[in-house]
Amino acid sequence: MTQPAHCVAVIGGAVAGAEMAGRLAEAGTEVVVFEQNPRPYGKIEDGLPRWHHALRNKEYTTIGKHLSLPNVHYVPNTKIGCDIGFRELVDDWGFSGVVLANGAWRDRRLPLEGADAYLGKGLIYQNAFIVWFNHAQESDYRGESFDVQDDAIVVGGGLASIDVVKVLMLETTRARLALRGIEVTMLELEVKGIPKILKAHGLEWDDLDLSGCTLYYRRRAEDMPLVEIPEGADEKRAEKVRAGRRKLLEKAMQKYRFKLEPLCMPDGLLVEDGQLVGLRFRKTEADGSRVTPTDETFERRGSCVISSIGSVPLPIEGIPMKGELFDFVDWDLGRLADFPTVFATGNVATGKGNIVASRKHAKSVAITLIEAYLGVSDDPDAREQLTEQVRKRSSNPVDPISNQLRGCPPMAAETLESIRSRVRERQQAVDYDGDYAAWIQKVTPPDFE
Ligand SMILES: Cc1cc2nc3c(=O)[nH]c(=O)nc-3n(C[C@H](O)[C@H](O)[C@H](O)COP(=O)(O)OP(=O)(O)OC[C@H]3O[C@@H](n4cnc5c(N)ncnc54)[C@H](O)[C@@H]3O)c2cc1C
Repeated sequence: MTQPAHCVAVIGGAVAGAEMAGRLAEAGTEVVVFEQNPRPYGKIEDGLPRWHHALRNKEYTTIGKHLSLPNVHYVPNTKIGCDIGFRELVDDWGFSGVVLANGAWRDRRLPLEGADAYLGKGLIYQNAFIVWFNHAQESDYRGESFDVQDDAIVVGGGLASIDVVKVLMLETTRARLALRGIEVTMLELEVKGIPKILKAHGLEWDDLDLSGCTLYYRRRAEDMPLVEIPEGADEKRAEKVRAGRRKLLEKAMQKYRFKLEPLCMPDGLLVEDGQLVGLRFRKTEADGSRVTPTDETFERRGSCVISSIGSVPLPIEGIPMKGELFDFVDWDLGRLADFPTVFATGNVATGKGNIVASRKHAKSVAITLIEAYLGVSDDPDAREQLTEQVRKRSSNPVDPISNQLRGCPPMAAETLESIRSRVRERQQAVDYDGDYAAWIQKVTPPDFE
């Protein structure tokens, strides 16, 4: 076997990271994947709710296929920015390139002054809530737990917030049915829907004496991005999509019995005895992408407030931020001004919580790395074209970031050997012996779904 000319580090081993690793490895590059958790599944394990069991299993297999390739080194339980510094990885290890595929794990803060003081006192954020839901059935689960109550307030509007209200409705309904001695699995209830299951037991919704949770959304029901409006769609097509969204939402509300209050945004906290007991909302007017607050407000009380208004990357020491996002100078390739060897892919760069979007993005960034940056493809035309595209996108055509795409020199044999030795050292420290399948078996609880 010829010695690889390059070795690339990938931070995060989930959809985007594994796709990137697989593609680079197939092009003959050596890849080291650093993953903070024992298992590399990211938001497939801790985002996508566990009723998507078929999709989750399919994604686990795809990720595993990439990470067990012979020239991919998996390094679990290793958080970059903590166990290994980001700058150290980029500047000292000698990698040809470093790809951030670390996703978006920090909830956007509820935009109300002082709200976070009520975390655990009535305020819950979506990421922790879904992690709990996906793992609650595991006997060894030691993470944060939530006591799901009727009549919760959910602030959101994106796809993930629909999952949050579904979790609330499935769990509160199951609890009420259990009080009547009726045991229904979460999966059965999710698949058949609440009305069908109740009917099968001779019950009506009102018999359960549940109010149901409410989703508060600052736009109109038809603006909810349950279906994307295709790029370049004319008004007729866009209106068709909006009508489809309304229908989908109505169906989901009938099937899972949650409520929706559109056209309102959080405006204040309702606090009693040190506990968040509700929110003041301000009515809005929404027209397409514009949302305008009005003078009208109203108050709502609930058993808790769950904020599900999107996720942003967790800061990593050394990576410049602009507000709550990484300060990329080129968002298509996830490039940072002072790090010419760094790229980013997946949710961290797309801002989209979507599996297909993460995988597609990883594919596109991998092509640029293979054909232009590392230059390991034999197609000089493709390389020129890609370099030109990147240069055109740049606001400054001679900036060092676009110029770096002109090619990275092959790695010296001793640099590659030094990386391999540091990787082995870290793998030993975390007790990983290089056998991916055996490792996954070891770190997966028997009751993992
Ligand atoms: C409630 C919910 C429902 C969803 N439903 C759907 C759906 O129905 N369909 C759909 O397409 N998408 C859905 N998504 C979104 C989808 O799951 C994600 O967008 C996608 O899996 C993201 O993949 P990724 O590889 O880009 O990022 P992630 O999955 O976030 O992977 C990032 C990886 O990086 C690791 N990492 C992070 N920081 C570090 C570090 N410092 N060092 C080392 N490792 C690190 C993480 O542990 C993780 O493994 C949903 C998400 C949520 C939250």
